Amino acid sequence: MLVSCEVVGCKTRVPPELEPQRRCILHFTLELEHECMQMRRETAIGNSTRERYAEMKRYIAEHGQKLAQLATGGPTLTDETKARILSTFLTLMNCRENVERIATRQETERRIG
Ligand SMILES: [Zn+2]
Repeated sequence: MLVSCEVVGCKTRVPPELEPQRRCILHFTLELEHECMQMRRETAIGNSTRERYAEMKRYIAEHGQKLAQLATGGPTLTDETKARILSTFLTLMNCRENVERIATRQETERRIG
């Protein structure tokens, strides 16, 4: 079965790893970057629940694994796509660090307060 990317205006063939998401690699990485930006905004406000932080970390871990599969398990990628995957990896790592830092700080404040 051939699956095409569901983003409007994009008809790129979806690699098997991304069939459940129905996104081509470009749009998968763009959405990830967008999601990370949202998480950054959300954590900046600083009143997310413990569960929400856990959910963010799970999201980052799961999508990082998916990216790794795309990078090393699928068909040959163009240099441009490789660069895009790497830059999204970096965004994910920084995002994870940010979530971790703020969750820890909030946890400390809860204990003191
Ligand atoms: Zn697409």
